[in-house]
Amino acid sequence: MGKSVRVAVIGAGVAGLCAARELLRENHRVVIFEKADRVGGTWVYDPRIDSDPLGIDPMRETAHSSLYRSLRTNLPRPLMGFLDYPLPERENGDPRAFPGHEEMLWFLNKFAQDFGLVELVKFNTEVIRVDQQRSDEWLVESVTRESGSVTASREVFEAVVVCTGSFSEPDVAAVEGIEKWPGYKLHSHNYRVPEPFRDQIVVLIGYGASAFDISRDVATEAKEVHIATRKPDVEVRKLECHNNNIWQHKMIEHAYEDGAVSFQDGSFVYADTIIYCTGYKYHFPFLETNGMVTVEENRVEPMYKHVFPPQLAPWLSFIGITIKNAVFPVVDIQSKWVARVLSGKVSLPNEEDMMASINDHYRQMEENGVPKHFTHALHPYATEYQNWVLAQIGMPPLEEWRGSMYAESINCITAMQDGYRDQWNDARYWEAVSHQDEIATLMFEFFILEIMANMEINGPAELLSELIESTHEVTSLAQSSKFEGRVFTEFSHLVDKFVPIFNDLGENIKFMDHPPIRKAIESLGKELRRAKAMIINPGSKTLVKQIEDMVHDLGRSLGLVLFASLEVSADFKDKIGALQKDLMNARFDRSSTPSPSHHSGFISEIEVEEEIKREGISLDIDDVVVQLKHGNDEELNLALLEVKELIGGKKVDNNWIGNEGVIPVLFNRLSSGKPANRLIIIHLLRSFASDNAENKEKMADVGFLSTLVKSLIRDEEERREAVGLLLDLSELLAVRRRIGRIQGCIVMLVALLNGDDSVASRNAGKLLNALSSNTQNALHMAEAGYFKPLVQYLKEGSDMSKILMATALSRMELTDQSRASLGKAGTIQPLVRMFSTGKLEAKLSALNALQNLSSLTENVQRLISSGILASLLQLLFSVTSVLMTLREPASAILARIAESESILINQDVAQQMLSLLNLSSPVIQNHLLQALNSIASHSSASKVRKKMKENGAIQLLLPFLMETNIKTRNSALNLLYTLSKDSPEELTEQLGETHLNIIINIISSSTSDSEKAAAVGLLGNFPISDKKATDILRRSNFLSLVVSLMTSSSSTSTTKTSLLAESIAGVLIRFTSPLDKKLQHYLAEQGVIPLLVKLLSSESPVAKCRAAISLAQLSQNSPFLRKSRTSRWLCIPSTEAVCEVHGGYCFVKRTFCLVKAGAVAPMIQILEGEEREADEAVLSALATLLQDEIWENGCNYIAKMSGIQAIIKVLGSGNVKAQEKALWILERIFNVEEHRVNYGESAQAVLIDLAQHGDSRLKSTIAKLLAQLELLQFQSSYF
Ligand SMILES: Cc1cc2nc3c(=O)[nH]c(=O)nc-3n(C[C@H](O)[C@H](O)[C@H](O)COP(=O)(O)OP(=O)(O)OC[C@H]3O[C@@H](n4cnc5c(N)ncnc54)[C@H](O)[C@@H]3O)c2cc1C
Repeated sequence: MGKSVRVAVIGAGVAGLCAARELLRENHRVVIFEKADRVGGTWVYDPRIDSDPLGIDPMRETAHSSLYRSLRTNLPRPLMGFLDYPLPERENGDPRAFPGHEEMLWFLNKFAQDFGLVELVKFNTEVIRVDQQRSDEWLVESVTRESGSVTASREVFEAVVVCTGSFSEPDVAAVEGIEKWPGYKLHSHNYRVPEPFRDQIVVLIGYGASAFDISRDVATEAKEVHIATRKPDVEVRKLECHNNNIWQHKMIEHAYEDGAVSFQDGSFVYADTIIYCTGYKYHFPFLETNGMVTVEENRVEPMYKHVFPPQLAPWLSFIGITIKNAVFPVVDIQSKWVARVLSGKVSLPNEEDMMASINDHYRQMEENGVPKHFTHALHPYATEYQNWVLAQIGMPPLEEWRGSMYAESINCITAMQDGYRDQWNDARYWEAVSHQDEIATLMFEFFILEIMANMEINGPAELLSELIESTHEVTSLAQSSKFEGRVFTEFSHLVDKFVPIFNDLGENIKFMDHPPIRKAIESLGKELRRAKAMIINPGSKTLVKQIEDMVHDLGRSLGLVLFASLEVSADFKDKIGALQKDLMNARFDRSSTPSPSHHSGFISEIEVEEEIKREGISLDIDDVVVQLKHGNDEELNLALLEVKELIGGKKVDNNWIGNEGVIPVLFNRLSSGKPANRLIIIHLLRSFASDNAENKEKMADVGFLSTLVKSLIRDEEERREAVGLLLDLSELLAVRRRIGRIQGCIVMLVALLNGDDSVASRNAGKLLNALSSNTQNALHMAEAGYFKPLVQYLKEGSDMSKILMATALSRMELTDQSRASLGKAGTIQPLVRMFSTGKLEAKLSALNALQNLSSLTENVQRLISSGILASLLQLLFSVTSVLMTLREPASAILARIAESESILINQDVAQQMLSLLNLSSPVIQNHLLQALNSIASHSSASKVRKKMKENGAIQLLLPFLMETNIKTRNSALNLLYTLSKDSPEELTEQLGETHLNIIINIISSSTSDSEKAAAVGLLGNFPISDKKATDILRRSNFLSLVVSLMTSSSSTSTTKTSLLAESIAGVLIRFTSPLDKKLQHYLAEQGVIPLLVKLLSSESPVAKCRAAISLAQLSQNSPFLRKSRTSRWLCIPSTEAVCEVHGGYCFVKRTFCLVKAGAVAPMIQILEGEEREADEAVLSALATLLQDEIWENGCNYIAKMSGIQAIIKVLGSGNVKAQEKALWILERIFNVEEHRVNYGESAQAVLIDLAQHGDSRLKSTIAKLLAQLELLQFQSSYF
């Protein structure tokens, strides 16, 4: 759940109400301050006007609203509502396309009531001061005027949202000579009614919406109206309008003392009144921000995207300051953004980047010659702006009709087209607009889902347990239903079968992260809730029919799960498939359960069927329709065949189909019934649709289309026909718009596209292609794993859709397979282009998407080939760059490049990265550290490592060991470990006791194997000669820590556990130095020797080698430590303690005996294996069993353990040192005749081969051995 903040909303107009609603939806605590006594703001018509009608006296008494009595909206109805709460047509309301202001006030009151906002408003309370105390602490001072008394209050809020409106403070244009002009002057803010201007000559300045309306209004009473305008190309002329008394002129040139007003076109009039329709000024008299927010030339600055002042964001925000846009949707979208930013669900760029975006906007205005006072004008970029904000909050873009409708209305106003409101015809938009309710419902559902998502109870596990609970409720309700009978028992058995499926899902909860599965499961939840409601309160259909339908609906929803389950196991799919089949095939016996139809007064279907049977009705044309509507499966089948006949034989025509309402009837029957009938129905519908636009229109109903979509999960033939029909219908725009939104449709089409049925696949492909013209559909397709349209948009879409796609891509949970397909489909290039050439938002979304794609090595190669590297480095290192937010994804991508390529092994890159470390955010630091580690780890990077150390890398990294951010600490440790490999001495110089203790502490507390491995590895890199370090490790009980690490580390080997094993084996070597028996005893006492033996069998050859080195060092001292059998013992050890190699009593802990420790067998296994890294160390260890006094015992023991052959095998490997050791051992072994006889022959060929092709240093030993084997004379000149 997001953060909940206490917020003051100032103003209860459109913006304040909407902001409060969105804040509530995000669980914020809201207080609304409103200086008026009701909600509605501008839309509260107030006959009073300012005490100074021109509105320039700062001390004047003011009225807030600027409405005139006759005002009707200047935008059509569909643009006057919120996104999910359109302006409805109500009974007895104002039905006009552009309703009067009263209708708007009614609407706002209803909105406030419906969302429980009225209770939050402090009425008659004017905010007089808003002052920041701390970044998230605002003092709000207000005065409440009620019943003649005034009360002042001060309250503290975490955030303030300013919604005080932008149309109350007049902006008055300068007119030369106006001071002496004797007439009446007023601003349009104070114009209410035309009567006071009866018979007057009125001059009106302006050419906006108010000038247009007021000129027509005042003209009804005035004698003449003269409009002075700055509009270009205006000539003096009389306008064609109702009263025939309006003229237009160029701008006023001068106003004279005698009442004359002259215009720049040379004309003049003697005027009584001048009305200034010259617009409004932003005015926030209550705001004290120490200059952080100012208003200059009507620019509120600085303002990120017209909402957030960067320095005070997000704690101060403004809603509704944009102009030249449809206010309702814009404030709705802005409010959603503010609410989510405050709850922490959506983040803003940092201050620097916000400022950069603002400056970019100013620069563009300047370049295009746009005056400053138009800073907040959105037209013609309103759609782009709104979609951008929507993308920030993860919402779909606006429907396209909105932009076009707004543009058309504006054209009517600027063209001063009289009567445009009543001539308005939105037929062009009808299709889209008539679905406004539908869209609003979808949006509403979106919010409900969002709100549910807010509630933590809705995690995948909770969702499943809710479903299981619902299932139990349904089954127990069904069993205890008052309508007894087998039907309910069967029903409850079927529903009960869901439980094991939900349980399986619970065990594989990660599947639920896959959005299509989650959606499908949610829809199943909906059906179960419906089932519950149906049992409690059955509808009017027969109960059996309802249950049957319910079961089929559950089956369909389960089908969705099946379709969405691309990655689940085959077993699980089979399980779901079996239940789905059971559900879809379930038919209930209608005679067994009493029908509740008597409750409803409807005639039950059974009664109809029976009546048909009784009457023995035959199938003439009239009966066909009856049977189509009411017949049972068999009768329906007959009727359908009959229709086919009638159509084929041309006995009926299209009129009959229309008159009898055959199409709706068929869709109705399609939702249930036998598979065979459904197939005929779709065949018939396809034939009706073929070349018949009228019939297609009839099928375009969203309910019919949903029914058809359900057929996409039925058997193969039905699926094929259904997709065919959908494709035929998709010629209609309305159909394309609708089917994409039908739940599960796109997922199913993608599944069909990838399926085996070539016809269905082809048609599904075509249909997806047709649907992809809608960006939202393209996104759904991508979520379902079909990326082609998304890639197409990235390549060729508008800037906005590119950003939309890239943003979606950056948030998608992709599998590596999807990443690979996206890479292959050419996604990288357009994203790189966006990054290189786009604006800030484009760059950011593109980089984030690339970051997501770059976790696949193949894509990293593509990125490198695209040439992005130079720009990424430039971005990262540029000191002047203000593009901080871009650095996070940029550094992440660089880390991936560094990981998979040696391309960055360039001394300067690493050094510059190093220098950025302390200047970056934790996320970037972590990426930089990872990149540096990858660079430094490269085998050819020794110079880079050296230079890094010269530049103080170790000292720079040490403070990171204290980091609380585990990722960063881990990355720093790894880098330290890598850097310490080359020159361990530097560790002794630079790391003191404190550092060692910190590292030990990390080992004991870290939960990450990789971090532990790096930390142990770092300790292992301390030079063995550093006695101080060894002492510190002893004092801190390091060995017992290592033992517990080894015993607790997981038995299944992963890269991380292998690394840990290697590091542990490495650090133990320092405790086994043969010169320090005391230390060896200490190590043995800690129980380390069995661990070393265990490491001989680990997965890592490095760990094996290191363990063998330690064991060899220990075993060197065994002959001197064993107790002779003649020694005097306090208690006699058992004969088992006698060692066959060392010849006395041997113990693992006391004599470090390899034989007693069971180390010889795993050592021999290493020699027999395929990896050769540990050979030398193992042979050294075995050689300790052949030391002078005990060599014969040792040879026999190795022979007994079947080790001779393994040692001979080593001769064939390429490692000279190991060969040297093996030869030394064999020389001793072949001194024993028995072994010479048994193994000499098998050694011969290898020895001769080695003599001929091996290293020259080995030759003399080989000669000795061959002589031993009597294959060569001693002192032979052969070599
Ligand atoms: C003449 C005219 C015609 C218009 N026609 C249309 C149209 O046809 N279609 C359209 O979409 N838009 C139209 N508009 C724009 C209209 O302003 C918006 O539709 C909408 O009303 C703006 O809402 P708001 O909440 O931003 O501001 P307002 O409606 O002005 O609400 C601001 C609220 O804040 C309160 N307030 C201000 N200061 C304080 C304070 N210090 N303390 C407490 N409360 C305070 C005010 O009392 C008011 O209730 C028109 C505007 C005008 C002036």
